[in-house]
Amino acid sequence: MSRRTLAHAVWKLSADDRPGVPVAVFRMECATCHEMSTAADGDGRPAQTWSLAHTGMNPGHRGFTLHTETCWRVEPGAGNPYGEVRP
Ligand SMILES: [Zn+2]
Repeated sequence: MSRRTLAHAVWKLSADDRPGVPVAVFRMECATCHEMSTAADGDGRPAQTWSLAHTGMNPGHRGFTLHTETCWRVEPGAGNPYGEVRP
């Protein structure tokens, strides 16, 4: 028989609002050839402009998927012993 000690720790998940972390990153993907625009931090206009230019160069490619990425972070909650530890 073995013994184990189990502990419960509270963690909280929230949007990562630390300095330098973008609020959102936008990229557009062509539904026909799956080419992707470059990622743009906090501004969807470059991805939209890329889509218009992509269709201009490839008139049959008219469908796109907008990929939006946001950053999230897990931090120790109240009473969590990892609150004392700096990563
Ligand atoms: Zn395409």
